[in-house]
Amino acid sequence: MKIADASLINVHAILPASRVNGPGNRMVIFFQGCSRGCAGCFNPDTHSFEIRRLCSPQDILSARRNNIEGITVSGGEPFMQPIGLLKLLKGARELNLTSVVYTGFRIEELDGTCSACLPFIDVLVDGGYEDALRETTLLARGSTNQRIHILSGRYSEADFYMPGKVEVVIDSNGVVTETGFSRIELRN
Ligand code: SF4
Repeated sequence: MKIADASLINVHAILPASRVNGPGNRMVIFFQGCSRGCAGCFNPDTHSFEIRRLCSPQDILSARRNNIEGITVSGGEPFMQPIGLLKLLKGARELNLTSVVYTGFRIEELDGTCSACLPFIDVLVDGGYEDALRETTLLARGSTNQRIHILSGRYSEADFYMPGKVEVVIDSNGVVTETGFSRIELRN
């Protein structure tokens, strides 16, 4: 579904704080919509382009907690909403927040508004998850085709040693969300 105002972001979910989606404590924004169809994708609920929740980049950043050091953008496919992504990244940089972005594209495929995002990204993890190339020992990614691109001097690869591979969040309504780079079995 086409969004009338392209600077708005169709959001799947927002985690206010996470320690397994990049260095330190990060707000994680999952974009809604992806047509890449990677086999074994961890987040199939993010594939539909139906409107889930439209947010302005300013509203997303205004809702941040004080103790986060940056944002991580995942999906879905962030570069399939490039105008909203660019505004979000510029806003984060103005607030001195770091930015980590996950994409199914390879960096060489990004052009136009997508490549204009790159100067505002500190670390780009590229390549869609491939089940056949799954490797559980990798830092911050799930399969060996995915690459970590350090695009600024704000982080090094060593910063991606995180306290765990997976995190379970239970919100105030009792909704349980699992995030990270592994899967665990949740029992009722
Ligand atoms: S690009 Fe990402 S969200 Fe899209 S299918 Fe591949 S792994 Fe899933």
